[in-house]
Amino acid sequence: MYKFGFDIDGVLTNEGDNDNNIWHKTFIDHFGDKVKKVSDSYDFREAYNLPDSDIIDFLNENKEKIFSSVPPYQEAIEFLNRLKEQGHKIILITARHEEFRDVTEKWLSRNNFSYDKLYHDENKAPLALNENLEIFVDDHRDNVRDIKSVGIPALLFTRSHNLNASEDEYTARVSNWQEIKDYIKNYYLR
Ligand SMILES: [Mg+2]
Repeated sequence: MYKFGFDIDGVLTNEGDNDNNIWHKTFIDHFGDKVKKVSDSYDFREAYNLPDSDIIDFLNENKEKIFSSVPPYQEAIEFLNRLKEQGHKIILITARHEEFRDVTEKWLSRNNFSYDKLYHDENKAPLALNENLEIFVDDHRDNVRDIKSVGIPALLFTRSHNLNASEDEYTARVSNWQEIKDYIKNYYLR
């Protein structure tokens, strides 16, 4: 039995790319066409060059809606279910604030995700260590770097905001669920 760890946003959720990204589209709906993405930063303030107060208003109004309506990766659902059936454990660690636990649990259940534990915590490396995870998959380079640095293999799910991560920050890059499945099968499911 192995314990596999996954991030939620950008890993289980299929947010879409570039102009089709659900966050970007909601930004345009909220602020109008005048708002432009100025960088690929993970941080919305930097990505859209907007003041904190605008971002806070935007998130207060839209976060819950996005969390409940974002589509999942179908392959992720199938693969997590398969891992569970084979007796492995699934640990989800999200940086979403605890206040979004309810909407997150409902989304996971509505989409038929199998998992054993759901943590809401920004500081993922100590939890990953404590849970003795075999591997963790995340799209945020800081999390991947931190988790790798405590000795747990960490896969970086490629996104526009993490393209400049250097090779020593992650164990491997993956750009889709097929690559995640291949990696895990190859190393753990022989
Ligand atoms: Mg993420």
